[in-house]
Amino acid sequence: MHTSEDLAFADEVRAFVDDNLPADVRRRVIHALPVAPEARKAWHKALHARGWAAPHWPVEWGGQDWSPARAYLFSETLAEEGAPELSPFGLMMLAPTLIRYGSEAQKQAYLPGIIAGDQQWCQGFSEPGAGSDLASLRLSAVKDGEDWVLNGQKMWTTMAHRADMMFCLARTDPGAPKRQMGISMFVLPMSTPGVTVRPILLLNGRQATNEVFFDAVRLPASSLVGEVHKGWDYTRVVLGNERLNIARVGLCKRQLRLVKQLAAEAPDGAGGRMLDQPLLRSRIAAAEIDLLSIEALSLGMLAQVQKGAVPGFEANMLKIRGSEMQQRLTELLVDVRGPGALPFEADPDEGDAGAALFKSHFDTRVVSIYGGSNEIQRNIIAKGMLGLGGRGQ
Ligand SMILES: Cc1cc2nc3c(=O)[nH]c(=O)nc-3n(C[C@H](O)[C@H](O)[C@H](O)COP(=O)(O)OP(=O)(O)OC[C@H]3O[C@@H](n4cnc5c(N)ncnc54)[C@H](O)[C@@H]3O)c2cc1C
Repeated sequence: MHTSEDLAFADEVRAFVDDNLPADVRRRVIHALPVAPEARKAWHKALHARGWAAPHWPVEWGGQDWSPARAYLFSETLAEEGAPELSPFGLMMLAPTLIRYGSEAQKQAYLPGIIAGDQQWCQGFSEPGAGSDLASLRLSAVKDGEDWVLNGQKMWTTMAHRADMMFCLARTDPGAPKRQMGISMFVLPMSTPGVTVRPILLLNGRQATNEVFFDAVRLPASSLVGEVHKGWDYTRVVLGNERLNIARVGLCKRQLRLVKQLAAEAPDGAGGRMLDQPLLRSRIAAAEIDLLSIEALSLGMLAQVQKGAVPGFEANMLKIRGSEMQQRLTELLVDVRGPGALPFEADPDEGDAGAALFKSHFDTRVVSIYGGSNEIQRNIIAKGMLGLGGRGQ
């Protein structure tokens, strides 16, 4: 469905990556090695200087007002080329919500820092016992004069230890007739007195996510986003903004390329190369065919969105198929590298291309959990397609 103009644009994006992304950073992304926060920030700044840090935003706030198709092509091309992903919390999740529902003061205060990469955000939605069933969240926000006072806990808050700011959901009306009706959205500096961050170490040995505790955290009235008790409506905007690139086709294409490259280089122990083994070849071919079908589904959904439709069950299917594909590809990478995939911190510069892949294999375990677990996606599809209930969240 890409026009010749689209293809020329993708070439322009590739040339931009070649000219602006240091080769070392690109190699680190491709080989799943950690990228320093300073290098990520420098890449953000390069995109911002070109006007491409938030091209999906309106022009008024520094964006390009791109169509969903153009924004999709852009982000998939960047991923395919090995560019680091920018943090989605401010750019993709909060900002579109603020642009639609935030006060003028909130837009002025936060949007410039987000687009320039100078202000990092985290998302405080999940809590112990409130992940899949998010509407049961218990962080309480009680009015005290003009202020709000928050008490409770968030869980799995990615990058809370590095973030300057958080947007979170809190219960402002425990007596509401429906649980979803008593929730509000707030923004707060992580340095607010009473906020404590405790790390959660993941399987890969990294601290990417955290518990966050709120002990009598006092926020001014201006911290409320939009109207009180309307947080659930805004949540749909936040989560909906994750949906168009949900399958991460560009990233999967890049991973598939690496599988083939490593399999072509690795000896099979019998005088040939791993890529010569029929079983491995058929696994790679099957993954490639499935990836093509995922891309076709993504492009089909995009065509509908271009005509004004809201992403439907295709988005739920893409979450399942895309996350499973990411897991399948890192499994293939580990299988191709064998013991060479095990070192956690080896650097491909030192001649061990493919090291740290086991870490990335662990990383992809979480993609079928966050953003709504795959079991929940399957429930939504089953209910929606069988007509047994509402769409759920
Ligand atoms: C690495 C990581 C980063 C995250 N980052 C963030 C973040 O930055 N901000 C944030 O707010 N949240 C974040 N999350 C939280 C994430 O959204 C939740 O983990 C997810 O929604 C699942 O909720 P839960 O962990 O409470 O599991 P639960 O809801 O307790 O589910 C446990 C298991 O039961 C299954 N299950 C639950 N209900 C049903 C059902 N009705 N039918 C069938 N199966 C069911 C689930 O699929 C899952 O397999 C992150 C999670 C991870 C792992």
